[in-house]
Amino acid sequence: MSKEITARSEDYSQWYNDLVLKGGLADYSAVKGCMVIKPYGFALWEGMRDVLDKKFKDTGHQNAYFPLFIPKSFLSKEEDHIEGFAKECAVVTHHRLMKNPNGKGVVVDPTAKLEEELIVRPTSETIIWNTYKDWIQSYRDLPLLINQWANVVRWEMRTRLFLRTAEFLWQEGHTAHATAEEAIAETEQMLEVYADFAENYMAMPVVRGVKSPAERFAGAIDTYCIEALMQDGKALQAGTSHFLGQNFAKAFDVQFSNKENKLEYVWATSWGVSTRLIGALVMAHSDDDGLVLPPRIAPLQVVIVPIYKGDDQKAKIDAKVHEIMADLKKAGIRVKYDDNDNARPGWKFAEYEMKGVPVRIALGARDLENNVAEVARRDAKTKESLPLDGLAARIGTLLEDIQQQMYNKALAYRDEHITPADTMEEFERLLEEKGGFIYAHWDGTTDTEEKIKERTKATIRCIPLNNKQEAGTCILTGKPSTQRVLFARAY
Ligand code: AMP
Repeated sequence: MSKEITARSEDYSQWYNDLVLKGGLADYSAVKGCMVIKPYGFALWEGMRDVLDKKFKDTGHQNAYFPLFIPKSFLSKEEDHIEGFAKECAVVTHHRLMKNPNGKGVVVDPTAKLEEELIVRPTSETIIWNTYKDWIQSYRDLPLLINQWANVVRWEMRTRLFLRTAEFLWQEGHTAHATAEEAIAETEQMLEVYADFAENYMAMPVVRGVKSPAERFAGAIDTYCIEALMQDGKALQAGTSHFLGQNFAKAFDVQFSNKENKLEYVWATSWGVSTRLIGALVMAHSDDDGLVLPPRIAPLQVVIVPIYKGDDQKAKIDAKVHEIMADLKKAGIRVKYDDNDNARPGWKFAEYEMKGVPVRIALGARDLENNVAEVARRDAKTKESLPLDGLAARIGTLLEDIQQQMYNKALAYRDEHITPADTMEEFERLLEEKGGFIYAHWDGTTDTEEKIKERTKATIRCIPLNNKQEAGTCILTGKPSTQRVLFARAY
């Protein structure tokens, strides 16, 4: 086979890069830390976007668009926010180039210096809350439920395709509410939207939780998150939903007159998921032969490959395939007929395995005579011969079964990898030998969290929602603790 993939057991990181590059999802680019999303990868993103966008609209949100550039003074208005983002900002200082007076090429025109520097948005709370000041006057203007699909830039030093890039695509919801309770309910609702998407579309089980103060979004009162487990036992933050309190309303002086005609500061939330989800999808399900995509998100759900000798056989197969295609399309299934005669069936099989297409149908002359087709599923690598009559309905059921089995498999793996630890020794041994989430007591201080991180590279991924209260002692300091939290090494 031309496209060798490194085995997971040999080098997990290289396996991941091989899948992204050879699976046609993305390429490295001329700009360090930035990637090119290729058509197949972008189709995946579009599929995710369509589902999420509908969920946002179904929960009452509208899309809008705000500028890419944020005046530096805006970003500095909320203290924690600027402190968190300052170290990864791209800054625009000039607006013109000129011919190099001393040689070849062009240089920045020193006379074209901006009066105020502009920051390429790392996130849009500040520019949006500056706008909300004009949009919100009275309780009648609330709630304000806005989402934007955009690109953002965070000058990350250690990047990895999809999982952490300097520029990434995402959506960011920014909502404004009259009360804290309403804003918290919104934060929780959107976390549930993300969790539902991860579990029921990406077939990826997630833990819903709240971040510790050290891992909180800069400027938030509380950060809710969904955490997923990858096949190498590392965790990945797959989505976040922030309760921002009145921090941004105060920074941008956004007040509304309530029903009693008194002025109050507005309550805020923000929430986002990014192209990181594509990396999560790859790492959660794929195997040493390539991508394994869950049917609900797969750009292509079924591929049909003809196996024939000569034009006569081909014509007969074509006629039958067109019938099958029509039935499958009528059933809403995304299907492609690959009758490109420049490639042999074996090569095509490997290619679609690499691309993770959930179901492959092979149809040969003998199959036609017997009125059957060979149907192969990508996830389990099994094949069966199915009657052509009623094939579309069977494929529909098969796709649902694949979706469910993929989820069950990932769930079983995840559940096997949540392990309690009662001592630091046990904690470190589990991290080395097994990985996954370690459920341990922590004294609640950032200092202890930092020390555990320095010693083990594991961080608190979250305090699960509805966590069981249980008296115990911190694994590091021995101080009293009221609950266990989930630690893991993470991407
Ligand atoms: P945040 O605004 O930091 O809460 O992040 C919002 C979403 O973007 C989360 O789901 C993160 O996992 C994701 N994200 C954060 N940084 C990056 C990055 N450098 N590349 C890709 N996704 C990211």
